[in-house]
Amino acid sequence: MTDTSTHRTCCKTGTCFTCEFWEEKVRWAANGDEAPALGRDAAAPVARVNGWHYIIKPMDRTSPPSTLGFGGALWTFRLHDGRTITSNDVMCQGEIPAHFRSRLPDNAITAPPKPSSTKAPFGRFEGLL
Ligand SMILES: [Zn+2]
Repeated sequence: MTDTSTHRTCCKTGTCFTCEFWEEKVRWAANGDEAPALGRDAAAPVARVNGWHYIIKPMDRTSPPSTLGFGGALWTFRLHDGRTITSNDVMCQGEIPAHFRSRLPDNAITAPPKPSSTKAPFGRFEGLL
C-alpha cells in the first residue's frame, strides 16, 4: 500500500523542478529557518504556517507597496522559537507539497495580513505612513 504522506506525485526520482525547489527550503530549515542572502536581498527568516512557506523580508518603508510582497500588506508571524516578526514585505513560495511536509513542519502561526494603511487603502502613498 502506498504511503500517501510521502508519495511523490511530481516525479519518480525526486529531481524535478518542484523537488529541487523544496529541497532548497529543507536546507534553509536546517540553516536555522533562514533564507540566505541572495543578490540585493539580505538573509531573512522563514516561516511555515499551515503548510505554506513564507520569507519574511525586513520592513520596507521606502519602496512603492506594489513592489512589496502581497502589495505591502502587514503580516505578523509568531515563530515557535518565541520570536514575533512583523513585516510589510512577505514573500510566499507556495504550499509545501505533501511529500515534503514531514521535513518542513510548521514553525509559526500568523495573524491575518492587514492592509498597509487603513487611511488610504490602495492609495498612492500606501505603505509610506
Ligand atoms: Zn519531483
